[in-house]
Amino acid sequence: MIKNGWYCCPCCKKKLFPVAIETKICKLPYKCKACKGQFEINIPEPRAIEPRADLL
Ligand SMILES: [Zn+2]
Repeated sequence: MIKNGWYCCPCCKKKLFPVAIETKICKLPYKCKACKGQFEINIPEPRAIEPRADLL
């Protein structure tokens, strides 16, 4: 899930890494360091995301 320009863990909702509008990720295996949850990241393009508050 993407929230405020950050990809957040679908399990514990922790921010994992920042994503830009142009960011595109396909089938990236990822393990959350916070909750140890393992999941696959897919970020298709184009998409609409909320702007990052720290970039405004
Ligand atoms: Zn997590």
